[in-house]
Amino acid sequence: MNRLDPATELIDLHIHVGGAVAPHILWSIAHEHGFKLPVKDYWEFCDLISASPDKVSSLGDYLAILHQWTEKIQSSPHAIERSVYEIIGKEYRSSRVTAIELRFNPMKRNLEGERDLDHLIHAAVRGMERAMLEYSCRAGLVFCLAREFDYDLNEIIVRKAEKYAHRGVIGIDVAGPEQHGIEFGTDVDAYRELFARARAAGLGTTVHTGETSHTAAPGVLAVIEHLRPSRIGHGVAAAESEEAMAKLCESGIVLEICPSSNLRTRAVADLAELGTILRRFDERGVRYTINTDGPYLLDTHLRGEFDMLLAGGLLTPSGATRCIETARASTFLR
Ligand SMILES: [Zn+2]
Repeated sequence: MNRLDPATELIDLHIHVGGAVAPHILWSIAHEHGFKLPVKDYWEFCDLISASPDKVSSLGDYLAILHQWTEKIQSSPHAIERSVYEIIGKEYRSSRVTAIELRFNPMKRNLEGERDLDHLIHAAVRGMERAMLEYSCRAGLVFCLAREFDYDLNEIIVRKAEKYAHRGVIGIDVAGPEQHGIEFGTDVDAYRELFARARAAGLGTTVHTGETSHTAAPGVLAVIEHLRPSRIGHGVAAAESEEAMAKLCESGIVLEICPSSNLRTRAVADLAELGTILRRFDERGVRYTINTDGPYLLDTHLRGEFDMLLAGGLLTPSGATRCIETARASTFLR
């Protein structure tokens, strides 16, 4: 069988609010708020916010769509509440996702300080709780620190995650352009301390790395050494390095693989290369999960990601089950 059983309940550990809201919802939010758009037609708007292959061929192109449009449209308490609410319901309806870790950077939703962060966070929690009640699913928020932010801004995000731990915020992440470096320049000790603080507050920790040639396997190794996260977003570049794979196994770190995202940003050349990477992880015992990253931006959903890998022979049915079990075992949801 090269498709998942429709009754299988799924769990998504890596999905960004900025890439997961349906275009018609963003269109509606933009109009409700009088957001100035460069297009007047809905279909032109769909083109503007989609990461179609003719527009996106790198992580930079992909992040630019989030930065220019979706994050700005989502920059109000009402907009983030509706976004979070709509995503959780849609992931349940499209893929029977019954547990979801939804990530976003609250400081990329506050219009550089014009909006109050606590209001935004409370609104996101409200949207999440409403969807959890309607769909009987489990959900939690992960706050993304940004590579391109100064330490002081990232410290505020961790402070907010600590404040809202046990109130719906379950972890922290680091995202953003990899050319800013995983060592965080001279601030490496400060970031190590921030991650330790998050762990002490009971928060889960994950870091985007190993997604482009800017970091590659040395990036994965540096993240393991300095930040000791319990999971890594993507990390596909670890397959180039025996040392990186051994360290992932030793430290029990779980990878959040996002197949369509890696194909679109050219982190991997094609499905065959992704297949080689997953085989290498299986042989070395590196644990990994399958996720969406940005389902609307990439025109996919979690069930579609599994079906693509099953149909292409990259996963066997038992391998797919193992990925789902690994996700259940490594979720920050309690
Ligand atoms: Zn991501």
